[in-house]
Amino acid sequence: MIVVKFGGTSVGSAESIRNVVGVVKAGLVRKPFVVVSAVSGVTDMLIAAARKAVDRKSPVPAIVKEVEVKHRPIIEALGLDANLVSGELAELEHVLFGVSLIGELTARTTDYVVSFGERMSSKIVAAFAGASGINARAFNAYDLGMITDANFGNAEVLPAAYPAIAEAVKGIPAGVIPIVTGFIGKTLEGEVTTLGRGGSDYTAAIYGAALGAEEIQIWTDVDGVMSADPKIIPDARTVDVVSFEEASELAYFGAKVLHPKTILPAMSREIPVRVLNTFNPAGKGTLILKTVNTKNAVTAITCKKNIYVINVNSARMLLAYGFLHHVFKLFDEFNVPVDLIATSEVNVSVTVERKFDISRLVERLKEFADVTVLSDRASISVVGSGIRSTPGVGGRIFSTLGKRGINVEMTSQSYSVVNESIVVREERLTEAVQALHDEFFGAAATAAIVATARAKSGKLRA
Ligand code: ASP
Ligand code: MG
Repeated sequence: MIVVKFGGTSVGSAESIRNVVGVVKAGLVRKPFVVVSAVSGVTDMLIAAARKAVDRKSPVPAIVKEVEVKHRPIIEALGLDANLVSGELAELEHVLFGVSLIGELTARTTDYVVSFGERMSSKIVAAFAGASGINARAFNAYDLGMITDANFGNAEVLPAAYPAIAEAVKGIPAGVIPIVTGFIGKTLEGEVTTLGRGGSDYTAAIYGAALGAEEIQIWTDVDGVMSADPKIIPDARTVDVVSFEEASELAYFGAKVLHPKTILPAMSREIPVRVLNTFNPAGKGTLILKTVNTKNAVTAITCKKNIYVINVNSARMLLAYGFLHHVFKLFDEFNVPVDLIATSEVNVSVTVERKFDISRLVERLKEFADVTVLSDRASISVVGSGIRSTPGVGGRIFSTLGKRGINVEMTSQSYSVVNESIVVREERLTEAVQALHDEFFGAAATAAIVATARAKSGKLRA
């Protein structure tokens, strides 16, 4: 069997749901276990709905109407029962009345409200699959073993979920194709939880691992993992194969194709993950495997805009131990995640996404160090497990950018060397990524790779 996950845009309109059902139908021989996101935009809408209800700015029935208006045309266009999600809408209205009445919105209630997105989309996809001759049935993930901790908004699946899933899925009659909610679960006490934004990928991987799937397919709206962000680099291309290690670097450093946590359950069971495009089902997509033998040292280039570089300098700490501990204890205390790090004896520079509030953190760091914060910065990560065995990648990065007068303000490379990351001024980002993409993926680079491969195979033959 395979796990097949469809994202929000894939279930975002009647037309795309037709594509989805087409894909499921074409793959029936592989016994698909289907996971779906909410209709695109609905999760945001539900979060806003909960806030509106607690603020009492608009009447609850009007808020629910908006959610209904988002789904109703899809249901109608697919020719399904107009009342298909009436039960969910009524329950949502009930919850929102409660929120508005009490005037309090907890993370727990928000998760409950948000869960209706996937609960409705799974019913719609299952109903249309049924109408198309597939023996499909909608399930809520929490009825198929998805048990989590009580960290509402960003819940973690419990180890006990894996056997619970295997057991629950055994109870599904043979031949039934399950259409399951992504993103949501329940605590052992039965409270609805969510796995964090974009969490449906993670749901798919958890089921894949729990059920020992042959493959986990993530169907999205792009052709796979790209050599760079196609919005910035017009000649970016799809990468055929990447390793788990590369995929997780890419996910953390800005490629939005996969939720970063997705890789973990798949990796632990060595289940291949394939990223595919619902809007181009004939495409090959990208296959993510344990190990890959590519000839190209660099697999892809990602970037992150809107980052801060925080420089922390403390000469007082020279030869004293515990400097890094002091610094990172504070990041922990203020829940500010760090992306890149570069250090010397008395200095540490880190990058942080600008969406995090660092004001109090910086104040506290200033109690024992000189702190400067650079904004308008962007990070670029050149990712590839081949970098390890290919000398000179760092040199090529620096000379490519140096030739164009682009200053590299910070660099970071770990011992495992899957990723060489640098920081540049945001205004030079596009130019920098294009130059690096030309360097590593342009015609000259491709010709050089082919020549090396030929020379090597020649040597082998000789
Ligand atoms: N619907 C959820 C979100 O928008 C989960 C997902 O789409 O993966 O974050
Ligand atoms: Mg997603």
